[in-house]
Amino acid sequence: MMKSSPRIFVCLFFVLSPLFLLAQPQGEHIILKNVRLLDGVSNEIKTGLTVIIKNGQITEIGEGDRQASSKATVVDLQNYYLLPGLIDAHAHVDNLDNARRALAYGTTTLRSASVGSYADVALQQLVASGKIAGPEVIPAGVFVQPDLGGSILADPRLAELYGGAETEEALRRLVQINIENGVKVIKTRSAERAGTPDTDPRKQVYSEEQLGIIVDEAKKSGIPVMAHAHGSVAPAVRAGVRSIEHGTYASRATLELMKEQNTYLVPTYSTVIDLTEPGGDYDHPVTTIRGKHMLPQMQEMLRQAMDVGVDIVASTDSGYGPESVNRVSTEVVNFTKLGMDPFTAIQSATITAAELLQISERTGSVEVGKEADLIVVFDNPLEDIRSIQDVIMVISNGKIVHNRLPFEAP
Ligand SMILES: [Zn+2]
Repeated sequence: MMKSSPRIFVCLFFVLSPLFLLAQPQGEHIILKNVRLLDGVSNEIKTGLTVIIKNGQITEIGEGDRQASSKATVVDLQNYYLLPGLIDAHAHVDNLDNARRALAYGTTTLRSASVGSYADVALQQLVASGKIAGPEVIPAGVFVQPDLGGSILADPRLAELYGGAETEEALRRLVQINIENGVKVIKTRSAERAGTPDTDPRKQVYSEEQLGIIVDEAKKSGIPVMAHAHGSVAPAVRAGVRSIEHGTYASRATLELMKEQNTYLVPTYSTVIDLTEPGGDYDHPVTTIRGKHMLPQMQEMLRQAMDVGVDIVASTDSGYGPESVNRVSTEVVNFTKLGMDPFTAIQSATITAAELLQISERTGSVEVGKEADLIVVFDNPLEDIRSIQDVIMVISNGKIVHNRLPFEAP
């Protein structure tokens, strides 16, 4: 039986391949003319370009006009600025309305930081099938933490972990169940939450050894781990996680270790600002007071991280609900206020983020052969970074999903 299976596979492939081709999402043929381009790789604006998109991919970038076939949609960008679509490296989107909201603000890709169910896996598959244009989701599924809370209902097999996921066996099982459900990243925690009144964000939750078990189990399937850690950052770094989420209380020595090990930092800085202000995703008197203590810590840590040269990635830590105030562009602008130069800040939400998500060979910059994940803004973002907060066009996987052109600049 085993010996004949490769041949069966080959036969099935040839029989089924036309069906696969039919199932491919048929993208539009779009010609963008009068483009000013910031491709996200080079720190210079190129002008007078035409960008051609076919079947979801950028097929040509060149100077001057192109002959348009009758099937092509021609869009005059009026010499506004074309940039890579934004990547949100830490979000909690679990429904279609919020996914649409994220997309309208230029988030063409997002890495889920757990949603309490496998709604992020379903969202990923909906996008991959071409039924909706995005954002593309890197799903995390259920948070790997001692108390699964309401997520115990996400999969019937999780019931065996009721009462706490602490032992090696339980941790490996939880990671496996997530992977069997189709997650592409594992989210765990080194320390407690900041956004709830009864938790201490510096209190360690999993030991370095437990975190090491989680990293090891995920690695067997080639899956990276992201660790929530305001405090207790060093144990997570030493355990080999791919990114530290928050990092508020990281010491300089820990930041240097992160630089050495190529551990990314996803600070969710704007969320800590959100903690200190009424409304938004986090709104409670206790977290407001806590935020006021955390914010200067986070700012100092970020300045040190920039000084050390840690790769910093933008995110929202938001569900993109109707009350949410954070956008990826907010985080980018806030990074520049701490001294990051505008180009590096844009890269923190584009190519650097794509490298963290291990998808930089197909998105994160505007280059021929890459997916057409693009935004248009009205002003030069290298001169005024705030312009990326006002996205006038969004193209995701080669489909125009948001379009305010023709546009009159203020
Ligand atoms: Zn989060």
